[in-house]
Amino acid sequence: TIKTEDISEISIKVIVRVRPPNERELQDNSRTIIEVVDDKMLIFDPKEQETPFFFHNVAQKGRDMLKKQNKQLQFIFDRVFDSTSTNTNVFEGSTKRLINSLLDGYNCSVFAYGATGAGKTHTMLGNREDPGITYHTVAELFSEIENQSKHREFALGVSYLEIYNENVQDLLHKSGQLHLREDGRCGVVVAGLEPIAIQNAEELLSLLAEGNKNRTQHPTDANKESSRSHAVFQVYIKIINKLDSQVQRVKLSMIDLAGSERASATGCKGVRFKEGANINKSLLALGNCINNLADGIKYIPYRDSKLTRLLKDSLGGNCHTVMIANIAPGSITYEDTHNTLRYANRAKKI
Ligand code: ADP
Ligand code: MG
Repeated sequence: TIKTEDISEISIKVIVRVRPPNERELQDNSRTIIEVVDDKMLIFDPKEQETPFFFHNVAQKGRDMLKKQNKQLQFIFDRVFDSTSTNTNVFEGSTKRLINSLLDGYNCSVFAYGATGAGKTHTMLGNREDPGITYHTVAELFSEIENQSKHREFALGVSYLEIYNENVQDLLHKSGQLHLREDGRCGVVVAGLEPIAIQNAEELLSLLAEGNKNRTQHPTDANKESSRSHAVFQVYIKIINKLDSQVQRVKLSMIDLAGSERASATGCKGVRFKEGANINKSLLALGNCINNLADGIKYIPYRDSKLTRLLKDSLGGNCHTVMIANIAPGSITYEDTHNTLRYANRAKKI
């Protein structure tokens, strides 16, 4: 029997989060193009409510006959979060379930996908008042570890990397460019990377804050440099069974991806990605890996980028994945939002 990458074992949950409108979107020349129907369904570019125009008490129809038809596309996902949701809500409906998978021995990964300004960093990192799902997930992990401490022992290490222009940098130690190496036993490893041991989720918060200072640009800065880098946060867990001293190693990866707008702009025809002058190589490769996984193609082009090489053992195969597609609510970002929803819809097929 062949036991390679059994597609049926792959589990991906696709989640969409709509952020609240910003100042610009609240102005009256922007309309809302997302209608969240319930916690699984949304409509992209909904038909506007029929608000008949009254003239001498008679409803006048067809005032907008020349207007372009709305697309009125219905999408269904594992979960849809509307603009009132908090990071705690998103955590509870998305990555919380990964903790059991992790402690059962599955590598897990979480991606925040979407155009610049759609809310990826807010979802992953958040702020002091509303910490992101990275914090909540690690806090839950510590609490579950505590619950299991009678029969298992745990050691946790974290790393925080940035991939910018296909260069890998350690955000927690000042180092130069890091290299990926194939290691016969451990798969792909980052040469010279030293995970930092942590004892609780609060230590994580200060590490994340420290790491973000070392990013190419501050992550909340909506300029084009920061939107081109991927932030990869990883937790390595060593689980020791107290009864038989068996050791198991698992990994959780949480990735704040580069903005997807260039992937759209360079003509993502349907769902196929084409190489373009300015397109982010790692984002393109991730899209192609997802496409092949969705099509059930055996060959997955992990080797095509730093990001996909790094995540080879956490994407596809025997892993659990959560994809959070972040979208803005307004018509200003009509094409980006449409493309993000199509990408997310594609990922659902994995
Ligand atoms: P991205 O990382 O995708 O470029 P950000 O997370 O930086 O986008 O979000 C863009 C702006 O919108 C930021 O000012 C952020 O604070 C705000 N924002 C995003 N999502 C939310 C949300 N759910 N609630 C409130 N503000 C949000
Ligand atoms: Mg960001």
